[in-house]
Amino acid sequence: MSANRRPLISGNWKMNHNHLEAIQTVQKLAYAIEKDDYEAVDVSVHPPFTDLRSVQTVLQADQIPISLGAQNAHEAERGAFTGEVSAPMLAKLNVAYVIVGHSERRELFGESDADVNVKARAVLAAGMTPIVCVGETLDGRSTGHAEARITEQLTGSLAGLKADAVGDLVIAYEPIWAIGTGETATPVDAQQMCAHVRARIDAMFGAAAAASVRIQYGGSVKPGNAPELMAQPDIDGALVGGASLDANEFARIVKYRLYQV
Ligand code: PEP
Repeated sequence: MSANRRPLISGNWKMNHNHLEAIQTVQKLAYAIEKDDYEAVDVSVHPPFTDLRSVQTVLQADQIPISLGAQNAHEAERGAFTGEVSAPMLAKLNVAYVIVGHSERRELFGESDADVNVKARAVLAAGMTPIVCVGETLDGRSTGHAEARITEQLTGSLAGLKADAVGDLVIAYEPIWAIGTGETATPVDAQQMCAHVRARIDAMFGAAAAASVRIQYGGSVKPGNAPELMAQPDIDGALVGGASLDANEFARIVKYRLYQV
């Protein structure tokens, strides 16, 4: 990882932890993550919508330097969209990062690159940072189309964004076959794909955006593999699913640099 890009370790809780469990988890994290860790690494947690207010209150009251994150946002500011939550509503809760285009949203809820694009724009317009997810399927990888698929997703998801906005983004490269499966891309494969993401950002938005955009790797990141993944030059952080549900396990990932290879 580059010295100029602060690492970001994000915990995506998905549809886990009610608001009481969420409070407990954040309190445990506050105990396990120390001042030195926050000096070196940015940390975000992404609870379900129903937990956001409770987690925000704990973070604020106890002055815990963990950023609050969300898992999705609707592109409209308000209106007749039953069941949806808008970006300005999240911003009002001090949400800093919003995941857009997670593969589960793409695969289970049919979100297209165009959908991800309007969501990313809405998140930026509300003053938050999108974490834009891209990743290929196992089929895409085994047929040699992984890079082409990532290029296509980046082109559609980031279309029309300004270069300086892209430089401040987070992009999560998450091979779908590695999410929740226990399979991890090897550090060499993950690095190769993250380098490809950076090269595409360079081609689309210029060298300055490519140098500053933060690229996370996601897919079965655990305390044991985090140090080697984080040692790769184009990997600036991790988007962690399963292992983020347990405060101690997530804290060990945040502390990856203590075990750096
Ligand atoms: C994710 O949900 O973004 C993810 C990477 O999950 P897991 O760490 O469980 O593979």
